[in-house]
Amino acid sequence: MYNIVIFGAPGSGKGTQSEYLIKHYGLFHISTGDVLRDHIKRGTELGKIASGYINDGKLIPDDLMISILEKVLDENPEKEKQGVIFDGFPRTTEQAKALKEMLARRGSKVDIVIGLDVPESELIDRLIKRGKESGRSDDNLETIKKRLDVYHSQTSPLRDHYVAEGIYAAINGLGSIEGIFEDIKKAIDNCRK
Ligand code: AMP
Repeated sequence: MYNIVIFGAPGSGKGTQSEYLIKHYGLFHISTGDVLRDHIKRGTELGKIASGYINDGKLIPDDLMISILEKVLDENPEKEKQGVIFDGFPRTTEQAKALKEMLARRGSKVDIVIGLDVPESELIDRLIKRGKESGRSDDNLETIKKRLDVYHSQTSPLRDHYVAEGIYAAINGLGSIEGIFEDIKKAIDNCRK
């Protein structure tokens, strides 16, 4: 059993590569963005709070986001034992610390952080294309730019945090989906040795 954080800017391919990881390793996938979009769809109180932040390209406050994630883990103890892909979490240093503590309380840890590197112009092209296909409310140029700013200021510093912990694997996120997944598999298999 091992836990993977899939890390990268919006549009770097975290969701797509998570699907491959689920199929190949049978892991439990937690996408915090999907959890929030599900609340919005169901019209819950949390969904009402989250939609304001999401449509504005901002992060949901740490306290709230951390408690949402812990609830997902608490509600799925059996799935958690299979190992988890954390997709879109952590996004701040505070969240990374909380994740470490949350997993330590459960006798586990983050085994590897897969960081997908994609140039900014490619990210914007991909997100605009996705917006046309999926109709996601935050995939429009104005919100995309805000999300990328948030990524650079609040999320990308986490890279150094995980490099210092010795568990960060940088992956080139350009190329074919299958080719990128091959590189990810190699990184995971290396970390298991
Ligand atoms: P994503 O689907 O991961 O791109 O997330 C979409 C949006 O959901 C983000 O732009 C944030 O507004 C919110 N969100 C998702 N995950 C987090 C998180 N870990 N911390 C704060 N906000 C989040």
